Amino acid sequence: MPLLYAPVSQENDAVPANDTLIAPPDADERRARKPLVCYDIDGLPAYPKAHYQTAREHLVKVDEVLVQPRDASTFLVPAGHFFRIVGVEGPQVGDPNLWNSNDLNEHFYSGKTRQLHATHLTTGDRLWSSHPGMRAMATITHDTLQWYGWDADGGGVHDVIGTRCDPYTNKLLKGDDYHYCCHSNLTRALATHTGKPTQDIEHHIHDVMNVFMCTGFTLDTHQYFMKASPVRPGDYIEFFAEIDLLGGLSACPGGDCGSSHSDDSTPCYPLLVQVFKSESDALQNWQPAKRNAYSGKHGL
Ligand SMILES: [Zn+2]
Repeated sequence: MPLLYAPVSQENDAVPANDTLIAPPDADERRARKPLVCYDIDGLPAYPKAHYQTAREHLVKVDEVLVQPRDASTFLVPAGHFFRIVGVEGPQVGDPNLWNSNDLNEHFYSGKTRQLHATHLTTGDRLWSSHPGMRAMATITHDTLQWYGWDADGGGVHDVIGTRCDPYTNKLLKGDDYHYCCHSNLTRALATHTGKPTQDIEHHIHDVMNVFMCTGFTLDTHQYFMKASPVRPGDYIEFFAEIDLLGGLSACPGGDCGSSHSDDSTPCYPLLVQVFKSESDALQNWQPAKRNAYSGKHGL
């Protein structure tokens, strides 16, 4: 292939320090180019809304876990079951992790979910899994905070842009050791579930979906912001398990994330996880999501 650029000579390396700050003459024209949504999601498996809605009209609760404030718990959801994360007692943000319960190496893929759907998720969106399995792990089937939409600050609820709060970032920013960040809470919960030491399983903790959290990017500097969650006791987000799931849920030390996180200064409340089986015939022909069909050859 011919070179499409001129090799930079040694002399040309000595460019003025502010060279890159000079906008080209056609800068406005370049900025005015039309944005395109990156992924055409019409190619994804369809969201059969009526099917799920019929199934969720006949739910029987089969399990329930109360997640304590500044702590995390795990829960199992068989494929074809529903689960809810429910606000109780007070406004509280939740940080869930999801794994294939038969293979912890397959887990929720926050970044690709964001690219396929949006910065914030709601009913009809799927939670996709990591490579190479990459398939729908769960589908959001109900969201009582869907009314929130987008606020005047550009904020929304249930983002997949932030990661979980963690003790390493906290150490960098504040210098102290704080052990009840969502990352550590999830690590302890997974260690308890697997019976393994924290150092053997910590790498399985991954980026979360920030359930009930209200976030966005500031309009001027595009920095990640949070504001007090609109969640009220009784609000919930409901998921349908497309494969066998192991879930972990941390009740974030930030509480409603309206003031701070990674400390003990904010009121925190429990979160409830409920698992349901559907007794509807709507799921009779339903099949768990299959692993991604890509050959895995990567050109070799
Ligand atoms: Zn957190």
